[in-house]
Amino acid sequence: MPKNEQPRIAVLGAGPIGLEAALYARRLDLPITVYERGRIGEHMHRWGHVRLFSPFGMNSTPLGRAAIQADKSKHEFPTETDCTTGREHIAAYLEPLAKCDALANCLRTETQVLAIGRRGFLKHEEPGSAKRGQQPFRLLLRDKKGAERSEEADIVLDCTGTYGRHRWLGDGGIPAAGELAAEPQIAYQLDDVLGDRKAHYAGKTIVLIGSGYSAATTVCNLAALGDQVVETWVIWLARTTRSQPIPRVAGDPLKERDRLAVKANTLATRSDGNVEFHPQTVIEAIETAGPDKGFKVSARCAGKVRTFEPDRVIAHVGYTPDTDLYRELQIHECYASLGPMSLAASLLKHAGADCLSIPSQGAATLRNPEPNFYILGTKSYGRNSNFLLRAGFEQIREVFTLISGKSELDLYKKR
Ligand SMILES: Cc1cc2nc3c(=O)[nH]c(=O)nc-3n(C[C@H](O)[C@H](O)[C@H](O)COP(=O)(O)OP(=O)(O)OC[C@H]3O[C@@H](n4cnc5c(N)ncnc54)[C@H](O)[C@@H]3O)c2cc1C
Repeated sequence: MPKNEQPRIAVLGAGPIGLEAALYARRLDLPITVYERGRIGEHMHRWGHVRLFSPFGMNSTPLGRAAIQADKSKHEFPTETDCTTGREHIAAYLEPLAKCDALANCLRTETQVLAIGRRGFLKHEEPGSAKRGQQPFRLLLRDKKGAERSEEADIVLDCTGTYGRHRWLGDGGIPAAGELAAEPQIAYQLDDVLGDRKAHYAGKTIVLIGSGYSAATTVCNLAALGDQVVETWVIWLARTTRSQPIPRVAGDPLKERDRLAVKANTLATRSDGNVEFHPQTVIEAIETAGPDKGFKVSARCAGKVRTFEPDRVIAHVGYTPDTDLYRELQIHECYASLGPMSLAASLLKHAGADCLSIPSQGAATLRNPEPNFYILGTKSYGRNSNFLLRAGFEQIREVFTLISGKSELDLYKKR
């Protein structure tokens, strides 16, 4: 970068964290380009029917709200305590933010980042050296027509999330036998079973695998579908040894989350509904003859071999970061979570704690051996599902403290 010139910043992903990072950069008059492979808030769109369990006050920033209101003084936000759905959040906050003057001309939607390298350096050259930082990053991009081009940036903020890459169903985290072939027929993301996907699930036998909040959400919705179409039957399989699949947080301040846990646990344990729950279950094999031709799922339930023959399979077994994107850079990955190492090591101290009680991990944990490359947002937590938007907003403040070199910088407080 020539002396006295501002560093060019590339933000990868226009989810809630990428957009907010872009706004922060614009407020510091830094040149920024955001590359988004889909729409604004693409991942949130895909689970748009789900209600966030954190309230709007925690999912937005004073900086973002001010930017929207500067453009549209009459814009009405949800109240601080409202728990909106993903779709409502996009309509009330992310889309107006993307359209605001501050972000005009810097968003490139339907532009996928395929790979990132460092001009003049291969991955193994000058390990951990500041010399690498004297050359720009090279980004290989693909637009919606499939045309490829490359662009350069001095600083890269990778905010590409994890929702785009699912994990596998088989024991030990590898694909179950047959799963690779059956993948197109398995729902790994949160289908709106009461909305646009209702016809696909109504009256069907469904095997659902997983025991996190995504599984809880879909089980509750399938149970509601069963109230409307009584033939709907849910076989809920989970590795957990708990008889109540969803762990509750003692005195949970996030009421929406607690309500969901209680409802899903009740469905798992009562015997008169349309849900049967099998804990201590691992998946061995999945076969399907093709779309709408049903499945054969082989599993071990508490050590006993069982076979199920559902019409549909839903896999809510978590997501994993796309680390291929920066394969040619020097990123020290955590061998357990696949998040960047310093942050992962710092988060490990809070293993088992509720996400609300985890404090900011400090700016230094965002640094990587590769100079000027930062991973923010849910991707920065890797497979650790404890990420909250609130933590991502704090990361943005910290990363711009590093970039600007001004330790007292806090644009959220100024508003
Ligand atoms: C069902 C669900 C409910 C959740 N509820 C809450 C909640 O209540 N409260 C809370 O705080 N958190 C919640 N989270 C966690 C987290 O806050 C969200 O996942 C949030 O969307 C993360 O924001 P992000 O910007 O880090 O990533 P994402 O929202 O995942 O955004 C990443 C963006 O990057 C784009 N992208 C990906 N790869 C590329 C590429 N190669 N090139 C260009 N663009 C790319 C994607 O299209 C996407 O738009 C929830 C998560 C899920 C899945």
